[in-house]
Amino acid sequence: MQTQLADFIRDTPEGREADAILRKCVHCGFCTATCPTYQVLGDDLDSPRGRIYLVKRALEGAPVTEKTRLHLDRCLTCRACETTCPSGVRYGRLVDIGRAVVEKRTRRGPWDRLRRAVLAFGLPRRKVFATALRLGQLVGMAPATRPGGAWPSARHARRMIALRGCVQPALAPSINAAAARVLDRIGVSLLEVPGAGCCGALRFHLNRQEAGRDDMRALIDAWWPMVAGREIEAIVMTASGCGVTVKEYAHLLAADQGYRGKAERIAELTLDLCEVIKPEELPAGKNRGRIAFHSPCSLQHGQQLRGRVEALLTRVGYELVTVRDARLCCGSAGTYSLLQPALAGELRTRKLAALEENAPQAIATANIGCLTHLQGGAALPVRHWIELVDEALA
Ligand code: SF4
Ligand code: SF4
Repeated sequence: MQTQLADFIRDTPEGREADAILRKCVHCGFCTATCPTYQVLGDDLDSPRGRIYLVKRALEGAPVTEKTRLHLDRCLTCRACETTCPSGVRYGRLVDIGRAVVEKRTRRGPWDRLRRAVLAFGLPRRKVFATALRLGQLVGMAPATRPGGAWPSARHARRMIALRGCVQPALAPSINAAAARVLDRIGVSLLEVPGAGCCGALRFHLNRQEAGRDDMRALIDAWWPMVAGREIEAIVMTASGCGVTVKEYAHLLAADQGYRGKAERIAELTLDLCEVIKPEELPAGKNRGRIAFHSPCSLQHGQQLRGRVEALLTRVGYELVTVRDARLCCGSAGTYSLLQPALAGELRTRKLAALEENAPQAIATANIGCLTHLQGGAALPVRHWIELVDEALA
């Protein structure tokens, strides 16, 4: 694709990166076939190809309107288009750059500004979110907390850090506790670091990119003493949505002289939980029941990790049912389900129909956002896969 970026961005790091990405796109449109919003809305401007065009025009200095922002807002950042694209177009990076420009050049209405401000304030702050969740639970408007259970003592020489995160400890402390028990069985002690909170993804994807970077720097500061002291061999992500962000810290903080080196080290050490456990390390089991696995976009597209969770569940005795259109997003996508409820609801309905088609007894996934969103519409229990592995081994 020919480009002529405008003066305001051409010679910046973002401009050079966007230009290189845009030049790779050949307009073939293969990506539209796996774009969830294009499937629902049928408008080319709600497809990756259309959004790439909108970003290109914005970076070339064309007028930016609320309609431009609407089509970018409707993108889930699921990155299914990256998996499909034969030319290697890094759409996720391009849309981040485009969104920052469009956000600066347009003004949202008061209601949109208010709800985004509330989400940006409340979600990354664990105590604020936990209080809001308890209030929601009292009036029956929020899901029940999944209690954690026992956490094994740190008895092994092999040690890893688990990211506690922001919303997961309030909604499902059961997930990290299950991970700690399973890792303990294979000779790894899992630790949580006090003060380690949000990975930055929430505010970054609310187009508060600098505030998101502040969260990233705060998390690096909390982990750094253990990383610098070589006390741990890996940083384990039990939410793939956080994992995809932390793995990109080196890129996201590349312009920050003070943090660039630390960010590179943190990203190198970061692994999804399914990368830490090998199937052969777990005892083989059978007849645990039928499971439909929903692989979050942040796992299968963002981190390009496919088949690993399925292998672990199969190893401990679960039978995995076939899931149609497994590449498609469930509609959760961070705060997307709150900001685009109609589209998110339609995508959830479609996803649940596909997941339930072959009569599973439960649904498994790998990200707290997908889990909570799917559970909100599912008759079947929706679990984190590590909870199922933990139960199989108990
Ligand atoms: S992003 Fe990739 S698949 Fe989509 S139009 Fe461009 S080259 Fe084709
Ligand atoms: S990230 Fe997902 S929703 Fe956005 S354009 Fe790509 S496939 Fe469509």
